[in-house]
Amino acid sequence: MDFLQPPPALRNTFDGDATLHSYLARALPADMADAIRPDLAELGAHAAQAWLDARSRTPQTPQLVQWSAWGERIDRIETTSTWQRGAALTTRYGFVAAGHEARFGALARVDQFLRVYLYHVASQFHSCPLAMSDGAATALKASGNRALCERVLPHLLARDAAQLWLSGQWMTETVGGSDVGNTGTVARRDAQGRWRLYGRKWFTSAVVGEMALMLARPEGAGDGADALALFHVETRDANGAWNGIRIDRLKDKLGTRELPTAEIHLDGALAQPVGELARGVRAIAPMLNVTRTWNAACAVATMRHCLALAFDYARQRRAFGRALVEQPLHRATLAGLAAEFEAAFQLVFFVAERLGRCEHGGDASEQRLLRVLTPLAKLWTGKLAVRIASETCEAFGGAGYIEDTGIPQLLRDAQVFPIWEGTTNVLALDVLRALGKDGFDALSMALQALCPDGAAAAALRDMLASAHAWLATCADDRDALEAGARGFAITLARCAAAALLARHAAWARERGDLRADAALSIFLGHGLSRLGAAPMDAVAQLVDNIEL
Ligand SMILES: Cc1cc2nc3c(=O)[nH]c(=O)nc-3n(C[C@H](O)[C@H](O)[C@H](O)COP(=O)(O)OP(=O)(O)OC[C@H]3O[C@@H](n4cnc5c(N)ncnc54)[C@H](O)[C@@H]3O)c2cc1C
Repeated sequence: MDFLQPPPALRNTFDGDATLHSYLARALPADMADAIRPDLAELGAHAAQAWLDARSRTPQTPQLVQWSAWGERIDRIETTSTWQRGAALTTRYGFVAAGHEARFGALARVDQFLRVYLYHVASQFHSCPLAMSDGAATALKASGNRALCERVLPHLLARDAAQLWLSGQWMTETVGGSDVGNTGTVARRDAQGRWRLYGRKWFTSAVVGEMALMLARPEGAGDGADALALFHVETRDANGAWNGIRIDRLKDKLGTRELPTAEIHLDGALAQPVGELARGVRAIAPMLNVTRTWNAACAVATMRHCLALAFDYARQRRAFGRALVEQPLHRATLAGLAAEFEAAFQLVFFVAERLGRCEHGGDASEQRLLRVLTPLAKLWTGKLAVRIASETCEAFGGAGYIEDTGIPQLLRDAQVFPIWEGTTNVLALDVLRALGKDGFDALSMALQALCPDGAAAAALRDMLASAHAWLATCADDRDALEAGARGFAITLARCAAAALLARHAAWARERGDLRADAALSIFLGHGLSRLGAAPMDAVAQLVDNIEL
């Protein structure tokens, strides 16, 4: 009989996650860890079951039904069965609500992101509208618009599925997603003085939700980003009909295929300004900080999922007389990926901790640290998730390229992390903005204060000195600064991750656990530096003269 390779299995993703258990023991008070552990274990079981279920059924994708049998335009989106269970799970486990509840004080965000971390891979990117809903709740709280908060927050933060609302964040237009200053959607008053929106939104991932926050240009407000205002729109009117929204089509995407992402037209959608009729980009910033943190948490969840599958396969699959996991080069390959994941995990949960602290009265220095670490965490983990997903495909050999093993989807899905919520380049430039003129020194001091003495501290000191020297070479050359921003930002992210992994490793070592120490030594071996932009004249030669 032919040999049959057992398919990769996933154990309860909470029980089997040593990184997570070690983090819980260090970062959470014991009573809090005890209180949330049953939910986390259920989510881990859910994830393992979802992996099994997905392998045994035909993949589903959302469908847009534009017309009724009798010719009425209905624009109904039929979501997958996993999405249909999303509201019940969200309210049961509080994927959005937990981050805003008082029970764990400043650790509410950690509670929330632990849940998100365990839910994401089973969610079919239902995590995307949840992120935007959380972002919307956060932006509305920051706006101080009490009437809107009273109307909307009980829904966004509901613990009752019948009450739950999802929110979209509709910014990207055909003219651009990174540069929203060109937004063409116009807000115009109608005869009764109410605001109505007209325009086209090119990527709307939560049009199945009940509301959205979006940018529009009040008529006559002038050009540029500062003239944009932030508006709240409810997708349906009191009778359940679309509120001046037409769904043109669903996007046919590389990955995230279960997530309905639509192109829409707004044709007189009733809307309400969230705050002043300008500076909407600033008003939506709290939303972006939250969705970027979700992105980073979902990226590390993806890494962990990939590694769990790759390790399971390596233990079962034999080549050249022994299991792959015993082949020195394969072992080293997997260990290298695991070390990067360990560092990324520490960075992401540190950002979650800081977000909670800042929301509970953190001082200005904490706010500044969070402001820089959020784009750093998002941009680095987004790229890393793609790398780990790609290596996971390779770790499965040919099977990793075959659709119904479920492995290629990991890579297709991971590729979204560096694109949405700000691409790598856009966030690298944002890091420069966040640092401003003198932010580097403050960041440098904060990271060194976190890092215990030892090899990591020495590597960190050297690397920060090099990064500082590189910044100085760009002092009068904005183009050189921008050209090197990506390498600079990834270097800073690696520095932050190394400091945090070293801190965790020191704690674990005292308890006889040397795993994080091992991860740290491998991570440091990969090097912290990603500095080094190509010389500007070589770039010009190539880009300006290339013929493709
Ligand atoms: C699956 C999916 C779902 C999405 N859902 C939503 C949604 O719900 N709501 C929403 O508003 N948007 C959504 N988006 C859109 C997404 O946020 C944008 O695609 C993204 O922000 C990039 O914008 P863009 O596509 O216009 O690319 P562009 O802005 O045209 O960027 C193209 C490239 O240029 C680079 N670039 C741009 N400016 C600079 C610069 N100054 N310096 C260096 N490099 C630069 C970028 O890094 C990128 O590599 C979604 C996208 C995807 C893929």
